[in-house]
Amino acid sequence: QAKALGRGQLAFFHRTLDERNRERMRLEIDLRRAIGAGELTLVYQPIVRANPQGILGLHSVEALTRWHHPQLGPIEPSRFIALAESSGLIGALSRWAVDSACAQMAAWRRADVAVPQVAVNLSARDFQDPGLVDWVSATLSRHGLPGESLTLELTESALLDRRNDNPPELEALRALGVRLALDDFGTGYSSLSHLHRLPIQRIKLDKSFVHDLEGDGNAQVLTTTVLRIGESLALEVVAEGVETEFQSRFLIERGCTLLQGYLHGRPMQAQALAGWIRDVLG
Ligand code: C2E
Ligand code: MG
Ligand code: MG
Ligand code: MG
Repeated sequence: QAKALGRGQLAFFHRTLDERNRERMRLEIDLRRAIGAGELTLVYQPIVRANPQGILGLHSVEALTRWHHPQLGPIEPSRFIALAESSGLIGALSRWAVDSACAQMAAWRRADVAVPQVAVNLSARDFQDPGLVDWVSATLSRHGLPGESLTLELTESALLDRRNDNPPELEALRALGVRLALDDFGTGYSSLSHLHRLPIQRIKLDKSFVHDLEGDGNAQVLTTTVLRIGESLALEVVAEGVETEFQSRFLIERGCTLLQGYLHGRPMQAQALAGWIRDVLG
């Protein structure tokens, strides 16, 4: 009896694993098609510059990829980005994202929509592509953009491989004028001794710190410390995930003037951004 049940459970377990594998494989095939078929889109989230008197202007926007699967509906970025990374599709996705963001940036410039810079996320995997710098450079030229209009957001995992010398790609990207931002700062390895040697211009305080600011003394101390580090290394600090007035005020009072979050602006379609700029910035 017990044995039969055990075997039944085992069969059940195998079936779900098998099902999950099949779903994964299907999603991988679909993602491969989606990248080529224009089924992915970018939304853009404002990063605002603020002072104690209020919002002063638009600092930049971050491009975030969205996938609306024809049958399954919207798929979470954390899910399809992880899938793209594990299946070797991330290179194609990154090229698509940088190309689309640059095309949009060029369109905004032609239409006199005042978006100073666009940021695109790269994965650690992208730094294993020896063609990275060349395709970024070619993309900028194709759209007639100066490197200064593009920021690439990297996570610490992109830099972990070579702890003692920086990936040479970083300097080469900087030579194009491209800015580099360290994303999700505070969640990764965060080697402080390494930080000052990286040719980055910006760190993005992870939203988990911002989330805990209300009533969590540790989060407040850590946030204040990150702001001091940014200041002493002359790095811009962007706070991510700002959702409440309390968080916004806390950050601004401590000198964090670059804010990104639902409070100030949600990720939106490119066409909506011009209206947002009019409504919010006047
Ligand atoms: P990220 O680069 O740290 O992007 C910020 C994430 O925070 C976005 O999630 C954004 O929608 C979300 N967010 C913004 N404001 C708030 C807020 O006030 N509260 C909360 N709770 N969340 C907020 P999203 O779009 O789901 O993307 C998740 C992650 O997926 C990104 O984190 C990034 O690591 C990755 N990702 C998205 N698009 C791309 C892409 O094109 N390429 C790569 N390599 N990664 C991407
Ligand atoms: Mg990012
Ligand atoms: Mg982030
Ligand atoms: Mg994040």
